[in-house]
Amino acid sequence: MKEIASFEFDTEVLSGGKVVVDFYSTECPPCEAVAPKFEGLSRLYGNDIKFVKIFRQQNKPLAESLGVRSSPTLLFFDNGVQSPVSLSGGIKRSDIIHQLDRMLSSDRVLEIKKEIKPTVSEFDVIILGAGPGGLTAGLYLCQSKVNTVMIDIALPGGQVSTTHEVSNYPGFIDPQPGYMLSHNMSEQTKLCGTVYKMAVDVTQIDLEKKQVVVDEFETITAKKIIIATGTSPNLMGIPGEKEMKGKGISYCATCDAKYYGDKEVVVIGGGNSAVEEADFISRFASKITMVHQFDALTANKQAQDKLFANPKITVLFSHEPRSFVRQGDKIITKVEDLKTQTVSELISDGVFVFIGMKPNIELFRDKLELDKWGYIKTNEDMHTSLPGIYAVGDVISKKYRQITTAVADGTIAAIAIAKEMS
Ligand SMILES: Cc1cc2nc3c(=O)[nH]c(=O)nc-3n(C[C@H](O)[C@H](O)[C@H](O)COP(=O)(O)OP(=O)(O)OC[C@H]3O[C@@H](n4cnc5c(N)ncnc54)[C@H](O)[C@@H]3O)c2cc1C
Repeated sequence: MKEIASFEFDTEVLSGGKVVVDFYSTECPPCEAVAPKFEGLSRLYGNDIKFVKIFRQQNKPLAESLGVRSSPTLLFFDNGVQSPVSLSGGIKRSDIIHQLDRMLSSDRVLEIKKEIKPTVSEFDVIILGAGPGGLTAGLYLCQSKVNTVMIDIALPGGQVSTTHEVSNYPGFIDPQPGYMLSHNMSEQTKLCGTVYKMAVDVTQIDLEKKQVVVDEFETITAKKIIIATGTSPNLMGIPGEKEMKGKGISYCATCDAKYYGDKEVVVIGGGNSAVEEADFISRFASKITMVHQFDALTANKQAQDKLFANPKITVLFSHEPRSFVRQGDKIITKVEDLKTQTVSELISDGVFVFIGMKPNIELFRDKLELDKWGYIKTNEDMHTSLPGIYAVGDVISKKYRQITTAVADGTIAAIAIAKEMS
């Protein structure tokens, strides 16, 4: 794998052959998550496809000319021709493989797949998800000498690593950058000896057999599983969103706000996340229009006071987005006034969406008892409806979802398991 700059692009990428390019940024957790997958796949596909990395912040004009609008973005080239398909945001290993396979003959793909050797490993406990809940459970289990593996589809840290500032985690006098807090949590658990499998594809979860398959070839079994998979941002589900996701529509201010220096941005939402992230985006953008469906924000008063004192931010109350349309470099957000039903257009350089979260339970939705919002029900020991399966953190049914509450859940589950196994 090679790192190149703009001046090498013609010779390294456009001059011929099959090439995949990773446009990455610093301080970008999804970029850090994709990097080991990219590197691993370069070893597997490297004889047939050239793997190239480009630092987006230092090669902005090139990135913009290729339509790269968020980090990371992977572009695919065949004999100098750019594929219309690009991948961006939280990129799965299987999505990259799918694109790489399309660049090769089916016979060659079969040969490459044969090089992958299946493996099986056994642990006492599998923790799915390395956010604050999972990391704390890992720490307590490790200190109780329980043989534990931590599996995450991204890098460790969970949502905290994409939160620019945390001011309410006890033990710190000053607000902490989210990535530092999550880094410290992760290092503490890792140094204790918990086995880490990060940035993998979780391709199969069998809760009854207590078996998890990662990256299609590695089977991991255990006596107990802790589900700590947290939540993901809700999508708007309106026309244009899918097409522009990662290409002007973003769900992560920490990752993408820095690319909107002196630009105009639309922020959708009105809860704490939307209000706090809009304030953060205003460090870069020249103008922010927030679109909120109700006639008052739902964020706490402290966050609202800060927002209303910010001259760059205006709020459009009682409006809902109906569609996104690209017009040259701009995005047109069509919004409906819910009181008059009139539709107007907001022209901006980018859109950020913060409209709540949904639990990450796709791979085992039907196996566990859930509440009516789809969150996992647990008892006071964090045990779920299935024997030997625990759940902690934001993914469980509870009233308050915070770092401190996730950490508390992880502690409880780990102590309960350690007692049971002793
Ligand atoms: C913008 C924002 C700001 C916030 N600010 C604060 C704050 O200031 N203070 C505060 O206390 N709380 C804050 N929160 C809430 C806090 O981040 C969460 O409550 C906390 O991170 C929950 O921890 P968790 O471990 O349950 O889940 P998460 O942190 O969501 O971690 C879940 C992990 O599971 C992984 N995962 C998902 N699916 C799978 C799978 N199938 N297999 C394996 N791994 C998987 C994810 O990659 C992730 O790493 C904020 C949240 C957001 C979105």
